[in-house]
Amino acid sequence: MNYETVVGLEVHVELSTKSKIFCGCTTEFGGEPNTHVCPVCTGMPGSLPVMNKGVVEFAIRAGLALNCDITRHNKFDRKNYFYPDLPKAYQVSQLYLPICQNGKVEIEADGVKKYIGIHEIHMEEDAGKLIHDPWDECTLVDYNRCGVPLLEIVSEPDFRSAEEVIAYLTKLRDIMMYLGVSDCKMQEGSMRADVNVSVRPVGQKEFGTRSEMKNMNSFKAIYRAVKFEAKRQIEILEEGGKVVQETRRWDENKDASFAMRSKENAQDYRYFPEPDLLPIEISDEWISDVKNNLPELPEAKRTRYISEFGLSEYDAGVITSAKQLAYLFEDTTAICGKPKEACNLIMGELMRLLSETSTLPEDIDVDPKKAADLINLIVDGKINRSVGKEVFEEIFRNDVDPIKYVEENGLMMLNDDSLVSDTIDKVIADNPKSIEDFKGGKEKAFGFLVGQTMKALKGKANPKSVNEILREKLSKL
Ligand code: ADP
Ligand code: MG
Ligand code: ZN
Repeated sequence: MNYETVVGLEVHVELSTKSKIFCGCTTEFGGEPNTHVCPVCTGMPGSLPVMNKGVVEFAIRAGLALNCDITRHNKFDRKNYFYPDLPKAYQVSQLYLPICQNGKVEIEADGVKKYIGIHEIHMEEDAGKLIHDPWDECTLVDYNRCGVPLLEIVSEPDFRSAEEVIAYLTKLRDIMMYLGVSDCKMQEGSMRADVNVSVRPVGQKEFGTRSEMKNMNSFKAIYRAVKFEAKRQIEILEEGGKVVQETRRWDENKDASFAMRSKENAQDYRYFPEPDLLPIEISDEWISDVKNNLPELPEAKRTRYISEFGLSEYDAGVITSAKQLAYLFEDTTAICGKPKEACNLIMGELMRLLSETSTLPEDIDVDPKKAADLINLIVDGKINRSVGKEVFEEIFRNDVDPIKYVEENGLMMLNDDSLVSDTIDKVIADNPKSIEDFKGGKEKAFGFLVGQTMKALKGKANPKSVNEILREKLSKL
């Protein structure tokens, strides 16, 4: 029998607001344990939450970008569970009236485009972090993350392959980063997903029983986990067994998932309306204000780069794949007016340096003014392209000023044709074998002679004039 994989995702993103959702503590990642805390976020009796308006604003922004309806009348609910990472013993979340509903986002996997439905997005608070210390056989708790605002983005069970899941997560991450809603640093846990997987015989209407793997924070692990889990379930069904609904744990090292606990349901959490927070009313004005101030999203940028700047679809795709790349491209182009050059610099040298230094695009710190100055130096023939590469590397690594750097290191192109001419004479005299080869029709020898001349002039000669003068001299031999 043929089976179809069905996946639904619950993605948590930590918001980049300065302060936590119900108190003034910082949301900054890390810090000495239990230093970003106060009576509110550690759940001290008698303390009361105050809603952070920025969280609502970010939620509306995310909802609009994902084509959701925005709920005008919002309430919070308490989700009760007892676990040491949650000092209040309940999480403030939205069960009944989530802020965004009925959205959709277009993805493309294996060349096929389709929509993934967004069931809802709700606001909630993050919990603290438990650190298990195997040496002292104890568990430590850090409440710095407690009360950091989260959006939970719940998809419909619309995915049919691991590839679609990754396409969606990549897109979601891009959008959130462009919106400035979250930095989505997966290694810091600011984007993580609960992955629900089931299988069903092709043609069957009803969904199969799902399992859920919680808190996954690497695309690679998610991809493998979906494939593994589908295969495991198919094997169970093929043997005449039944898949049980449960929470499973993905073990990255063993490349397999393991049963953790049977799935809890809404009753287990004893949800009830949060009595300490007022309902939030969202006006039409507020929504249209957020809408009018939405930043341009990657797809719109891609289309514009192609039509406005003449970039290829491929280049436009790479450059818009990260916000920092797109902004570097736009700002550099705005200063020097040379989009093709800016694009080539990013696609060539910058990409090479990123991979060489294992730098993530979000950590790029290249001043667009400096990139633009460098492009002008090259285009105006002040330095040649190979020197340009060297200077760009200095900008990338050490933030040097290209104009000063070129002057101080004497990298300006030589525009002294008599020096070039003398050097070529010497190269010709020193390489009789190559001259013979060239006369015998070996064009390769020409390239060699150009190379020798450039070397003698420390790469600063204008390659065009070296070519011309050398050709002329050889023709007269
Ligand atoms: P819960 O809140 O108990 O986790 P939900 O019904 O809210 O359950 O669904 C959570 C997620 O599981 C959603 O992303 C949904 O798309 C997904 N899901 C639901 N049923 C299935 C299924 N049979 N197979 C795969 N995913 C599913
Ligand atoms: Mg769930
Ligand atoms: Zn606090």
